Amino acid sequence: MSEHVSTGTDTMIRLDQVTKQYHGQDRPAVSPLTLEIKNGEFVVFVGPSGCGKTTTLRMINRLVEPTSGEIWINGQNVTHADVNELRRGIGYVIQQIGLLPHLTIADNIGLVPKLLGTPKGERHSRAADLLELVGLDPKVYAGRYPRQLSGGQQQRVGVARALAADPPIMLMDEPFGAVDPIAREKLQVEFLKLQEKIRKTIVFVTHDIDEALRLGDRIAIFDVGSRLAQFDTPLNVLTNPADDFVRDFVGAGASVRRLSLLTIGDVLAGPVGDDDHSIPLHDAVQVTLTSTVHQALELVLAARADGVCVVPDLAAEGSPTELAGSTKFIALQDLLMTASNTPGGRQ
Ligand code: ADP
Ligand code: MG
Repeated sequence: MSEHVSTGTDTMIRLDQVTKQYHGQDRPAVSPLTLEIKNGEFVVFVGPSGCGKTTTLRMINRLVEPTSGEIWINGQNVTHADVNELRRGIGYVIQQIGLLPHLTIADNIGLVPKLLGTPKGERHSRAADLLELVGLDPKVYAGRYPRQLSGGQQQRVGVARALAADPPIMLMDEPFGAVDPIAREKLQVEFLKLQEKIRKTIVFVTHDIDEALRLGDRIAIFDVGSRLAQFDTPLNVLTNPADDFVRDFVGAGASVRRLSLLTIGDVLAGPVGDDDHSIPLHDAVQVTLTSTVHQALELVLAARADGVCVVPDLAAEGSPTELAGSTKFIALQDLLMTASNTPGGRQ
């Protein structure tokens, strides 16, 4: 982590020594925080409850006004800019979604464009496009009301609504927090595919480290009082935790040495990799029994896959017959768990 703030032209969001002190609180919710987010980058804020993630996120669109410091967006100091104008360029998605119950899905999505004076026909065709984009058939869903949709579907509508004015920036505060784990994983995978198409600058808040590792180009790990413990790629966070807090929070105790020593063969010999994970759920990258866990993690995170498929290593003796006819799948979580559970303790 560096306190240095450059003025690179590809910077989209810059927080410069930003703080927030709420009235009646002993300690600041956010103590001087400096960080920079690049154009088109997917950054995840992660950390324990109360560490200031939401406050920091909401200072970017000034739903919370900073006590001190500056906020820069796309090269402009917006600390005191007109908030309506500022928010027009920033989509905002929250867990509670906030769809209006008496409006159809299409009208909910068209709410902001309506305020901006977009004509009705244009709003509706845009809503249809956005529904398509988030994986909901507009012919089925455009005319429905929010209560007629599942939690996961409503959450997708929330994303579509935030995209309606085509803002370059999306702020998302635990958007998938209220849906069940299976729907949540599906939403995560879909959302990554969506981001490949739309390439927005995204700041995403979660308290779930797995979600952070899966989604983020870079993840900012916060400790209490918004101390930025580490701001780095998922792989660097895993293999090179900045301090004990990060190491504990990531939970893997995953030193480079350990991950590099452990092979996929070791993982399969352990308690994971059995029964329920034999079938690839989504996307997987291929590794062999002799690949190290470090190599596997690198591949999974680079490809944003859900795990690895263990395939026969033609160069190695023995393995082709052992694995003949069956391809083993190991989920990302299991790779991480193995790294933390392997005897030998922390390196
Ligand atoms: P997180 O999103 O990481 O859980 P928050 O940003 O919501 O954390 O909160 C950070 C700290 O600020 C907490 O101690 C919380 O109690 C406090 N806080 C948050 N919102 C308010 C508020 N509106 N008034 C007073 N204190 C607040
Ligand atoms: Mg929060």
